[in-house]
Amino acid sequence: MKKIIISFSLLIGTVLITVAQTVNKVTRPPVMDVHIHVGPVRSGMASMCPHFLSNMPGADPMDKTPFSFSVSDCLDPWPAAQSDEEMKTEIVKRIKDLNMTMIAFGDAGVMRSWMKEVPEGRIIPGIGYRNLTVEQFRDSLESGFYKVFAETGMNTPDEYLEVAEELNIPVGIHSGTGGNGSANISNPNYRASSMDPYKLEDILARHPKLKVWAMHAGYPLAEHMIALMGAHAYVYVDISGLIWSYPLDEVHYYIQKLVQAGFGKRIMYGTDLFYYPRMIEGSMSIIEHAQYLSAEQKRDILFNNAARFFRLDESQFDWPE
Ligand SMILES: [Zn+2]
Repeated sequence: MKKIIISFSLLIGTVLITVAQTVNKVTRPPVMDVHIHVGPVRSGMASMCPHFLSNMPGADPMDKTPFSFSVSDCLDPWPAAQSDEEMKTEIVKRIKDLNMTMIAFGDAGVMRSWMKEVPEGRIIPGIGYRNLTVEQFRDSLESGFYKVFAETGMNTPDEYLEVAEELNIPVGIHSGTGGNGSANISNPNYRASSMDPYKLEDILARHPKLKVWAMHAGYPLAEHMIALMGAHAYVYVDISGLIWSYPLDEVHYYIQKLVQAGFGKRIMYGTDLFYYPRMIEGSMSIIEHAQYLSAEQKRDILFNNAARFFRLDESQFDWPE
């Protein structure tokens, strides 16, 4: 991307006024990724295969070796970034080359270091509520740096949701799966039923002005997600996480089902990025190559729906000439 900076100064009396206009030359229309995790990189992370949940083993609780499945046994695994610097370089390059804007949340220090390297507005910071009192949470949002409340859970205390509702801050709530084997591998307290999109209904009833998007589109509970979106006209979804982890045919089936049900204007593209920079083009190409989507539907998912949901001015984005 070539950056042209036109800047001129006018000297009026003793006041110096500098007008700077930045034009970013791009070849691709803008894309918004609404689900980016930002944090320090753990070195030594193994490569990961996209769609690694495609062939789950037939396991038994009495198995001598604990339940597991391979995530790196494929032809072209995605390497993990091995340092913060490498991660930043790879992400910044993609933001520029692919004309991306990201809704990002996590470590504020890492986030600021990325923001310094990209055009203004290309990283839109989100905040969580953990470790913050309600007052600190409100102060952080009122400071203007954070524009989004994410990623948060169905069990988020009402006081925090009230602040977001009052300040007109969109909220991303985790819904649906957190991967396979959760209850056996990572968290014995995990309950698939606790992530049901229907659990959003009480939140929506208590906070009617809250702008909510269901992260991970309630996967795999398509019927519940569709019923919820039907009943609640302002709820959008993102297709992050599922898009690169579940079997490819299943990913297409799920997205197509939501579109077919009439919600093509409320599906937002997202990755759930962490550690693996290639997740970005890998996930984006799934939408790009979806044969059941029209060119217009692809643009809606990759950009238009998110721009509308986050109330962004489309003229502020860089467009190809
Ligand atoms: Zn996430």
